[in-house]
Amino acid sequence: MGLASARSVALAGLDGHVVEIEAFTGGGLPRTVLVGLPDTALYESRDRCRAAVASAGFSWPDKLVTINLLPATLPKGGSHYDLGIVAAVLAADQAVPDRILDHTVLMGELGLDGRVRPVRGILPGIMAARMHGFDRAVVPMDQVHEARHVAGMRVTGVASIIDLARVMRGQPVLEPDPPTQEAVETPGLLDLGDVVGQAEAKWAIEVAAAGGHHLFLHGPPGVGKTMLAARLPGLLPDLTTTQALEVAAVRSLAGTLSSLELDVRPPYADPHHSASVPSLVGGGARVAKPGAISLAHRGVLFLDEAAEFPARVLEALRTPLEQGSILLGRTQQQVRYPARFQLVLAANPCPCGQAGQPGGQCQCAPMRVRQYRDRISGPILDRIDIHQQLQPLRRSLVHPLAGATESSAVVGARVAEARARQRARLSGLGWMTNAEVPGPALRSVLPLPQGLELLDEAVTRGSLSARGIDKCLRLAWTCADLIGKDVPTRTEVRLALALRRGEPGLREVA
Ligand SMILES: [Zn+2]
Repeated sequence: MGLASARSVALAGLDGHVVEIEAFTGGGLPRTVLVGLPDTALYESRDRCRAAVASAGFSWPDKLVTINLLPATLPKGGSHYDLGIVAAVLAADQAVPDRILDHTVLMGELGLDGRVRPVRGILPGIMAARMHGFDRAVVPMDQVHEARHVAGMRVTGVASIIDLARVMRGQPVLEPDPPTQEAVETPGLLDLGDVVGQAEAKWAIEVAAAGGHHLFLHGPPGVGKTMLAARLPGLLPDLTTTQALEVAAVRSLAGTLSSLELDVRPPYADPHHSASVPSLVGGGARVAKPGAISLAHRGVLFLDEAAEFPARVLEALRTPLEQGSILLGRTQQQVRYPARFQLVLAANPCPCGQAGQPGGQCQCAPMRVRQYRDRISGPILDRIDIHQQLQPLRRSLVHPLAGATESSAVVGARVAEARARQRARLSGLGWMTNAEVPGPALRSVLPLPQGLELLDEAVTRGSLSARGIDKCLRLAWTCADLIGKDVPTRTEVRLALALRRGEPGLREVA
């Protein structure tokens, strides 16, 4: 008779609970029983573990083996319990000592050959274990760097069951040298200076970056909407360590976390208009994987040709835009993923892209043009702060010598200064950017800008909605932050109105 217990983590989204794996050997006919609300992948663990233990040169107890996962009411899924199950069984059978098991969490899947294979969710799993007071973890050797992002956790990598046995006996395990990482081309490295002309649109992108505002780029094909959107992340400041860990944890769950270092650049996701609702917001048959909106968490979500997205896909964005997260329903439980992203939409004026263009030959029926524009619903449009019209380039601007343009480094420095002003003003209030400040606080907590009568006039004339007033106030603050004014004046209120209503001529006003 033997009894031992090991620990692993059950993940629901980014939240994790420590699971106790009890193994009891003895009595009854030789067989293995697994209880405690396992899903199919976990149930198969029984057979995987037996084969892996035999391949590694150990023997599976020739007795009744009962494996119990606690708490029994918590749904448990996935294949990462293998390592904990084998540790508990070998300890219960007294093949290896159990002294490290009560303060260690184990995560990892086993191959039939006894090797330990990587699993999704190592980072959020180890973060959860740390939060629950654990300070030691055993993970697949390939994912040691991922688990080591968690401060205060002693992490040991194991490549096989033989390594696991060494760790349990208190012997060292040899770690291979970390692979040298090649530089990866990211959207953050794209430079604003590469975009010819479009000075107004660049200003709109700068304001969006400075205040964290959602942005809509309107214009015919080929004017640079996609190029500009892809350069927005490069203007945003680095993430804080906490934010970077959130981003890495989502990537870990999606199985796309590859960098050895913690990536502090804001992420960028640009799903195609043929993307399904699950690939955009998250979901999936067996495991609820995070979607593009969560992979864009703390960064930019760009929907190119936004009017081509099916209505139900766009509508799925409404709740995350309001709440900064998404709740996905599962059969056994619900999982919540973070989804606080900056939305950038781009759209052509009509299906052929030529409507309203000087000299354009639009072939679309007026009805179709209207339907095309209506495909992005009011509630989504209402959340967009900045509307920017892009015009086709004039020949003079296409000339290589036509006007030097500012690089992302220059614009990014102004954005960083504007962000610092916001942090100083909003410190203690719980917000980081102007876009996050709720309407009532704009009018009661912060000083009121000059020139508010411009907004009243716009509402009276019907060119601005009531919700639009708050958007204009936030934009006016961002414009003031960009030029270092303490409080917005009439000039910034006028700029904000033009940005909100997508009016040309911004530069003349500025
Ligand atoms: Zn057309």
